[in-house]
Amino acid sequence: MTVRVRFAPSPTGSLHIGGARTALFNWLFARQNNGSFVLRLEDTDLERHLIEAEKGITASLRWLGLDWDEGPEVGGLFGPYRQSERINLYRTEAQRLLNSEMAYLCYCTSEELAAMRQEARQKGLAPRYNGKCRHLDQAARQKKEADGLLPVIRLKTPQEGSTIVNDLIRGEVSFDNDTLDDFIIMKSNGIPTYNFACVVDDSLMQINYVIRAEEHLSNTPKQILLYQALGYNLPFFAHVPMILAPDRSKLSKRHGATAVEEFRLQGFLPEAIVNYLALLGWSPGDEREKIPLSEIIKLFSLNAISKSAAIYDLKKLTWLNAQYLNSLPLERIVAEAIPFFQKLGLIPAQEEHIDYAYVAKVVETVRTRIHTLVELAEAATYFFRADFNYEEKGVRKFFSLSGAAEILAHGREALAKTEPFDLPTVEAAYRSLSHALGIASSKLIHPTRLALTGKTFGPGLFDIMVTLGKTKCLERLDRAVNWIKNNLG
Ligand code: GLU
Repeated sequence: MTVRVRFAPSPTGSLHIGGARTALFNWLFARQNNGSFVLRLEDTDLERHLIEAEKGITASLRWLGLDWDEGPEVGGLFGPYRQSERINLYRTEAQRLLNSEMAYLCYCTSEELAAMRQEARQKGLAPRYNGKCRHLDQAARQKKEADGLLPVIRLKTPQEGSTIVNDLIRGEVSFDNDTLDDFIIMKSNGIPTYNFACVVDDSLMQINYVIRAEEHLSNTPKQILLYQALGYNLPFFAHVPMILAPDRSKLSKRHGATAVEEFRLQGFLPEAIVNYLALLGWSPGDEREKIPLSEIIKLFSLNAISKSAAIYDLKKLTWLNAQYLNSLPLERIVAEAIPFFQKLGLIPAQEEHIDYAYVAKVVETVRTRIHTLVELAEAATYFFRADFNYEEKGVRKFFSLSGAAEILAHGREALAKTEPFDLPTVEAAYRSLSHALGIASSKLIHPTRLALTGKTFGPGLFDIMVTLGKTKCLERLDRAVNWIKNNLG
């Protein structure tokens, strides 16, 4: 059996980490089993279908690297892949259920339904449809139609017994049938409800593993009844646990970014997000946190997904992002960093004017100490601009000392003579200068760092020097010497 899974978002907003995690688990399972990953857009709720949302979701999936084998943009043998383009299929299947009397037309008005709920409440029962239209005969139906009432279609559900969901993660979950009323499968406007469209599509698209969020578990008994009524084979079900905020409340805006696009703009790498999301509910069985995707694909298992909620931990994601920023091939990080540098105006917008070799050296120098691409661009600013201010604390600690300007002038002289301007030579020049001046090398290094970068911390000074190059180092040391003379002299 070829594994066929799907991710079925409703295009009403952006892709959030919960949805991305569901998509990822489906994708991993498909890739592990050489199966197919299908993208289906559940857009029957026509008023809310936003083409922008669809574009945003597909762009986020692509950015994460979760490519789909069938679906919008790529096509496939089981299309169309937008539910709004499949309405006739649902109508045909609904008609089949009407013909076999598994479903019936219901004309109850909203007042009648309200009265039913009221009655149930008075009896202390859960509100449910009481089956009033189950047995309408032809004449009664004609009368309702003549009154201008538009019917919905309801599934005839069993009144007794229970429906068991055999879930690959949660095991057997039993639902009493008397809690499932004759639910609506087609609305009076001819549009299917979620449960009905989902079952028709999963079946016609030959989906054999339904991997989705736990919040849909309560829909599953209804869907199983639909599979049975329609004579379809049941797929396997796997309901993945919720993602909660650190305080175990529902994850929301107030916990920071939750949309994949926001993480992208904040400078997270898709590799880090994918790695992080894989660990939200699943674990490789050891303590590792940074795991290459190829290995996650091999190790992933639905059985190893936890039953309990996963706790979202921005610190861990940020840590992982730093790890990936540090370890991915330099060209990759350079490519990701460029838009962030452009946004700060550090490099030209036109690609042909970018000095890639210099940008690469800067990224290499800075990337070990930052957590996001936004931080990377901020930390790289002084490599592109010489008009920075000197940090006040640094001025007090290093520039205000007597002899500071002279020390920097000596440094300038030593660097001017340094050839080649590489790491060992620059370092040796500075070490021997501090020796010759009879001062600790820190007395030379700290003011030089402030002169070259405006800051009191950062990457190793000699790395900074080599990346900046001799000319910029000399200019900046001159600027600092003059500044000290003009402002502190
Ligand atoms: N459109 C549903 C959602 O976004 C899909 C649920 C399912 O996977 O069946 O939650």
